[in-house]
Amino acid sequence: MTGSVTAELMPVTALLEALNDPAAMIDAGTRVIAANAAWRALLPAARLGQPLALALRAPDVLDAVARAQQGGAAETVAWSERRPYIHDHEVHVAPLDPRANSRAVLLTLRDLTEIRRTERMRVDFIANASHELRTPLTTLLGFIETLQGAARDDAAARERFLAIMGEQARRMKRLIDDLLSLSRIEQNERLVPQAAVDLAGIARQVADGLAGLAAENRIRLVLDAPEALVVTGDRDELLRAVENLVENAIKYSADDNGAERPVEIGLEMRDGHGRLSVRDHGPGIAREHLPRLTERFYRVDAGQSRAKGGTGLGLALVKHIVARHRGRLHADSTPGKGSTFAFSLPLRPNSP
Ligand code: ADP
Repeated sequence: MTGSVTAELMPVTALLEALNDPAAMIDAGTRVIAANAAWRALLPAARLGQPLALALRAPDVLDAVARAQQGGAAETVAWSERRPYIHDHEVHVAPLDPRANSRAVLLTLRDLTEIRRTERMRVDFIANASHELRTPLTTLLGFIETLQGAARDDAAARERFLAIMGEQARRMKRLIDDLLSLSRIEQNERLVPQAAVDLAGIARQVADGLAGLAAENRIRLVLDAPEALVVTGDRDELLRAVENLVENAIKYSADDNGAERPVEIGLEMRDGHGRLSVRDHGPGIAREHLPRLTERFYRVDAGQSRAKGGTGLGLALVKHIVARHRGRLHADSTPGKGSTFAFSLPLRPNSP
């Protein structure tokens, strides 16, 4: 390539550089002759002057480039790459000025990974939610049929079936309540709550409210909190988050053999933050599950969760509540020893 060609290309490079998405220009010999910073970051192997095929091993894209060079119209092709996880791109291949017969082609890439991931999550979410609702609904319909037929005049069976039907209906209600809470919190996620909330008062209220459940499960609730610890937040949401964590600790750490175990609710000030932790001494959670626990409907043991009245949405709710408060949720566990769930929120300035 001569110096004058490079000089002519200067405006092209400047134009490409102004684009946010990765973009490059390819010459008649399918060499990369100009590329922007986004392209260089994505494809460091694609050096100027070298064949495109060296950097982009994507037959569909190379075929589209060939078609564009042979007079084809602009087209968009898909390109996926493992990096180390699958990244999905859309590559727009456009001939530049076909009349000039330069056979130059402009490639622009759009990263669709995030959009695809969101699409997948939406599809999975609808499938999961429908499945969760269909199971109790099928049970309900079965019992309604039995009550209308075979068990019509059997008073004892009616009592038993109605009890099961009530339990299934409550399960559906819990699920719908959790789904509605989740969507309400998500809708407000950008609005940071502004009220002064005493986290110590919330911890005490939760411990009192769950004393019955704790006793049923032979759990001793131990509260270690200052008199007051005021953060900025939404009282109902924080109550819900703490309740979910303590309820999980009670449900999942109860000893099947009936030995009493403690669940410790701790509250302390640390680096300008109020940190609330819930520690149990149950079987714990294997490391590979920890990062996924806050996904909707993710459960370590689905049967156990359902048997304990779980919807699989509790920790997803906690995560969203904490995120809305600009805090962070931490989960830590040693299998065989127990788990600790904790979150920190900024302290309210000028509070005692
Ligand atoms: P669920 O309604 O099933 O309790 P969550 O979102 O609250 O849903 O929790 C997700 C899963 O994480 C639970 O099904 C359970 O497997 C696991 N889990 C949560 N908390 C604990 C805990 N303290 N100890 C052991 N496992 C837990």
